[in-house]
Amino acid sequence: MKFALVLLTCTMTTVCFSQSRTTADLIITNAKIWTVDPARPTAEAVAVAGDRIIAVGSKADIETLRGPNTNLIDAGGKLLLPGFNDAHVHFVEGGRQLDSVQLNDATSTAEFVRRVEEQVKKTPKGEWVLGGDWDETKWTPAQLPTKELIDPFTPDTPLFISRYDGHMSLANSVALRLAGITAQTPDPPGGVIVRDSQGNPTGALKDAAEELVQKVIPPLTSEQRLRAIHRALDYAASFGVTSVQQMANADDDSDSFADIKAYGELLQHGELTTRIYVTAGISDWEQEAKIGVRHAFGSSYLRIGALKGFADGSLGSRTAYFFDPYSDDPKNLGILGAGMLPLLKMQDWVTRADAAGLQVCIHAIGDHAISDVLDIYWSAMRVNRGAEHRFRIEHAQHMAAKDFDRFSQLDVIASVQPYQAIDDGRWAEARIGHDRASRTYAFRTFLNHGVHLAFGTEWDVAPLNPLLTVYAAVTRATLDGKHPEGWFPEQKLTVAEAVQAYTMGSAYAEFQEKEKGSITPGKLADMVLLSDDIFSIDPAKIREVKVLKTFVGGKLTWYQAHYHASL
Ligand SMILES: [Zn+2]
Repeated sequence: MKFALVLLTCTMTTVCFSQSRTTADLIITNAKIWTVDPARPTAEAVAVAGDRIIAVGSKADIETLRGPNTNLIDAGGKLLLPGFNDAHVHFVEGGRQLDSVQLNDATSTAEFVRRVEEQVKKTPKGEWVLGGDWDETKWTPAQLPTKELIDPFTPDTPLFISRYDGHMSLANSVALRLAGITAQTPDPPGGVIVRDSQGNPTGALKDAAEELVQKVIPPLTSEQRLRAIHRALDYAASFGVTSVQQMANADDDSDSFADIKAYGELLQHGELTTRIYVTAGISDWEQEAKIGVRHAFGSSYLRIGALKGFADGSLGSRTAYFFDPYSDDPKNLGILGAGMLPLLKMQDWVTRADAAGLQVCIHAIGDHAISDVLDIYWSAMRVNRGAEHRFRIEHAQHMAAKDFDRFSQLDVIASVQPYQAIDDGRWAEARIGHDRASRTYAFRTFLNHGVHLAFGTEWDVAPLNPLLTVYAAVTRATLDGKHPEGWFPEQKLTVAEAVQAYTMGSAYAEFQEKEKGSITPGKLADMVLLSDDIFSIDPAKIREVKVLKTFVGGKLTWYQAHYHASL
């Protein structure tokens, strides 16, 4: 048996160990292992040498690989899964947010104002107050905030706080002045300056209009950036997130390159504890193409070579772009992103980036925006025949019935964030009506059409905790408690399908399905040990499940006791 295992190791791994190497550095035994590998779906123990899994099997099988220096971990019968791979995060913003004002769960305007005031008091004079993630739908009445709420206590402090979906922000008067926004400023293409009845800006800025302020905010210092990344790495480890895919914030996002530089520095010092795939803005495709970078270029901890573009806005900000008007706003179809005006602009970026071997990921939420992006992908495929594209649509939230087939024929990856289904599910139907809502976050329909699903969260916009996402996909129970049996329950997934999308699905979405995504000999030893068996507990309890241990490349990056001690 021992001999057989060694042979197996040598035939199945990409890094082939010498025949004489028969001992493991790490064995996790007495575990309930869900491997996400159809060749062996369950097991009791796993052996690791270096940063790779070398064997998976029964306790007795794996025991034969134990040597005098093997670190043996008894999992106490708990569930061990491949590490979670979050296919859509804003990692640096997430790290920043952990230190900034938290407005998402404010339930009234008064609470919103109180928290902002507290943050302003903590902020050195002249420094910007940022972050926020406010959500006015949680207030009564659900009214957009205005600068008048903030101005009385910010005479010298510029403030620009974002709505939770990132498609709208509130500026105070100091910030509007610095950005030069007045009643005379026209709406930029792809954006809206919200105005009062006299035509004066209220401080709320939508989509491309946000950039008017963003461009006057000083960039992060490299020290601030590194500090944010460190915070984010620790936070990811505490949730069993072993890989993340970072999405650029705009078609043109110079922060992506500054982030890559910072990650590179951490990699060199051995301080990256989460594997990262970083996208740049699509309009910057040539910067990567000209030095020969292709998709998934790099090492196991840091890869680049993907690009992110924006087709439209969001449902919450009524800027997601639909074929038919919003049900509660009959003149409004939403708006296309600036990079889609005209469509040929995006088509040109995509076609050329794809020809250079770079991977393209485009944010599209409304059914019309999704349809347009599918058209663009189709035309790029006709030009760049034979290439492996793995085009992605980020969010793919509201599908036109006619587009599921096309999605699958073009083999486009649906990079989706199930938590948003239980969050937006509170109010989405009022905004788009029953028929369109029935094809919203349509995970089951995607799977029925053979579409590749990748799971993510869009942290810092939504919580990073993967158990909340699995809970959302499995229960579709909206956060307001109004759909305990599930909002459009026919779209629920099983726990196994949700875990698959969060591990192998996300690995596929970054061209890494041979390297990670399952507990398989030869793959990177990225694993997470959970407090409860999510396959057998009441699905409603999945959101309470805790992470006990996180392993990245066979190294323990987090364990529960340590976390409590450090709080
Ligand atoms: Zn995003």
